[in-house]
Amino acid sequence: MCALQYLRPDLLHLKPYDAVLPQAADKLDANEFPLDWPIGFKQKLSLLWEKGIPSNRYPDANHHGLKQAIAVYAGADPTQISVGNGSDELIRSLLIATCLGGRGSILVPEPTFSMYAILAGSLGIPVVRVGRDADTFALDPDLCNLALAEHPIRVVCLVDPNSPTGNGLSEAEWAWIETLPPEILVILDEAYFEFSQHTALPKLSDHPNWVILRTFSKAFRLAAHRVGYAIGHPQLIQVLESIRLPYNLPAISQWAVQIALEHAEEFLADLPLLRQERETLYTALQQLPGVRVWPSQANFLYLRVEGRDPQHLQREWQELGTCVRSTGGGLRLTVGTPEENQRALDRLRQVLR
Ligand SMILES: *Cc1c(COP(=O)(O)O)cnc(C)c1O
Repeated sequence: MCALQYLRPDLLHLKPYDAVLPQAADKLDANEFPLDWPIGFKQKLSLLWEKGIPSNRYPDANHHGLKQAIAVYAGADPTQISVGNGSDELIRSLLIATCLGGRGSILVPEPTFSMYAILAGSLGIPVVRVGRDADTFALDPDLCNLALAEHPIRVVCLVDPNSPTGNGLSEAEWAWIETLPPEILVILDEAYFEFSQHTALPKLSDHPNWVILRTFSKAFRLAAHRVGYAIGHPQLIQVLESIRLPYNLPAISQWAVQIALEHAEEFLADLPLLRQERETLYTALQQLPGVRVWPSQANFLYLRVEGRDPQHLQREWQELGTCVRSTGGGLRLTVGTPEENQRALDRLRQVLR
């Protein structure tokens, strides 16, 4: 291969993140909320864009109003909050703040959210992968401890509930997390908090080495606006604030989140219905021959089909009009509208016939 010699050799095998932009298909592959923002909120944001946001001026670099609103919503202090261009940006900042320059590796229990390993790779940070229990996808504390003994691990990456498998952290897993020493940062990715209603926040003050990540891309339907936040120890937050790009969040995104939080109750009121749809879908999938589907605390379901290659299955399902994600040896299906879910089931039946 003819490589440009000024490039880092370890980057030459990387590929850009590939997200499908399907035409005329049900998009159930990215865990987005199935409904767009209510039109009234969009009009409110449009009006701000017309009258209240000077486009020649830089946005608020300190995210002052935004942090205030997030602090109230989350039940934390603004000094415990840093806001990122998606929580993906915060993952990268956390890795820069801890492991960059040969200061350590990250522990990633697989299958899980792919961005941890991808971002570590882009920074030249080694990734130590451990498998999860084949039935429950729980962590194996012994395997994790072995990895900790063998590698200079600085960060443990945990998604709760996990993507793509949907399981929340169990009592036993929490007991293991409590044993992690203060020199290891524990990332608790709560991207699906609004669906699971479970958070590590009450225990955060006892653990200066824990940090929570959340996002507005899922329950608040703002994936297009790219806003996520971290809640952690003020000293960690100050470092995150110091290493990020100064104007990382467009003014309109900051305002979109503030409008979302003013109307948080309305957004959250739609979640019980989505959870109900998830359970209906779960039951229906369970009844299909050869299908194994796992319980989920989030807005998606994880499934495998006996004797079928997930990648082939994903392509066949997509050809019929439903996009799902093939990952970790299975398929992740986002819960959509009742109509999208019904079509997903009908099409899967057709594929399996
Ligand atoms: C969707 C998701 C994110 C983040 O998203 P942003 O859109 O970058 O805020 C982070 N972690 C997990 C596990 C996710 O599923």
